[in-house]
Amino acid sequence: MSSCNEIKDIDYQLPKECPQENCTINANSLVEIEEKFGCRKMEDGKIIPQSWCRECRKKSVKSK
Ligand SMILES: [Zn+2]
Repeated sequence: MSSCNEIKDIDYQLPKECPQENCTINANSLVEIEEKFGCRKMEDGKIIPQSWCRECRKKSVKSK
């Protein structure tokens, strides 16, 4: 996983909320985005926050 330190200010908005139903996770700072969501590198090299929080991503992997 890529480090959120490389993320650009314009590539995320605060507070960032997890879009999953019944999930109350949100992040109010870049540090929290890294902790709760994590980041990934796009094919063009741009770093963006994961759209779902870590917990929801774990659950979705399990349910497959
Ligand atoms: Zn979530």
